[in-house]
Amino acid sequence: MSGPLLPGATLGILGGGQLGRMSAIAARRMGYKVRTFDPSAHACAAAIADEHITAEWSDAAALARFSAGCGRITLEFENIPPSTVELLARTVPCHPSAAVLATCQNRRREKEFLRAAGIPCADFAVVTSLDELRTATATIGFPCVLKTADFGYDGKWQVKLTDASADLAAAWDKIGRTTGVLEAWVPFQMEISVLVARTEDGRTAVYDPAENIHRNHILHLSISPARINDATAREARDLAVSIANKIGLVGLLAVEMFVKDGRVMVNELAPRPHNSGHQTFDANETSQFEQHVRAVCGLPLGGTRALAPSAMVNLLGDLWRGGREPDWTKVLVDPSAKLHLYDKGKAAPGRKMGHITVTASTVEEAVRRAEALHAAL
Ligand code: AMP
Repeated sequence: MSGPLLPGATLGILGGGQLGRMSAIAARRMGYKVRTFDPSAHACAAAIADEHITAEWSDAAALARFSAGCGRITLEFENIPPSTVELLARTVPCHPSAAVLATCQNRRREKEFLRAAGIPCADFAVVTSLDELRTATATIGFPCVLKTADFGYDGKWQVKLTDASADLAAAWDKIGRTTGVLEAWVPFQMEISVLVARTEDGRTAVYDPAENIHRNHILHLSISPARINDATAREARDLAVSIANKIGLVGLLAVEMFVKDGRVMVNELAPRPHNSGHQTFDANETSQFEQHVRAVCGLPLGGTRALAPSAMVNLLGDLWRGGREPDWTKVLVDPSAKLHLYDKGKAAPGRKMGHITVTASTVEEAVRRAEALHAAL
């Protein structure tokens, strides 16, 4: 086990997107030096990092340059080859580990882990051919959803199969004729997510569940705390801590869950900061980004308490109508709204360009104002 990595040392971050950018802001605020690594020279975390290395994930020479002088390495993006993390971990402690990354980046391994760990999740079957898909629909039943095992996110690479008349061959084509997971459709009342941080010596800190509302499969609004009863919230928090312990997490884990009839079922795991935790930057004792840094560096974990009810609304590239920057003064006039922009350059439909967090005395008020600010843009 490695001892704590104290401020002044260098933290390496694999991936240079907005999650890396906000983790880098938190790390630099605490006095760490930050080095980022991403295949793109225009990665938006690069502007915050002390140093940015642009190279492919398989570039061993660039990875050696990256790791030299880093005291810890973490990641902000899931689709990094586990072999990259394995290579780096020979010389520098990397959190989360290659094994945790490999489990969470592949739906098959993730679901098999959850099932083996006794964590409630939708019934599922692994399918590797069209024939297996046909057989699986008979056991899982309709409606169900076919998802690719690799590289799926924000509802990409998945097909809902409503009833027995569904075109299974077309669904099989749509996920790329590759290994998939067929899941029973869960008629949930709400989607929530729970963030949990865990250190190498097994200390944990968990946040209250956030309630998530999607539009076109992309997170639109995240409401904190989720409008669920105390027993459901406790069950969700306990499940997240149990998963972090069982998977051997070091760092931060977001657990996406469905709420159905007051009980929770796990949908997905992300071993990194998560879009549904952005409001913690402005509304909690410790932001998810600072907590991520603390957990990875083996520091005491920060308090997770919400200082106020909050709502976070995503700003997608669609708001840049005709390529024009929205008028941000419409947000800035609200004294309790916090505008976060990721400086990504080119806006594209569906691209996450920033977010707004609103705090208020009730979640209803926070939601109302967040939606109004979003609509004003
Ligand atoms: P995922 O990529 O697995 O996070 O799925 C994206 C979204 O699709 C989720 O946030 C849910 O809204 C929906 N979804 C995924 N799996 C299921 C399921 N088994 N039952 C109902 N809705 C689902």
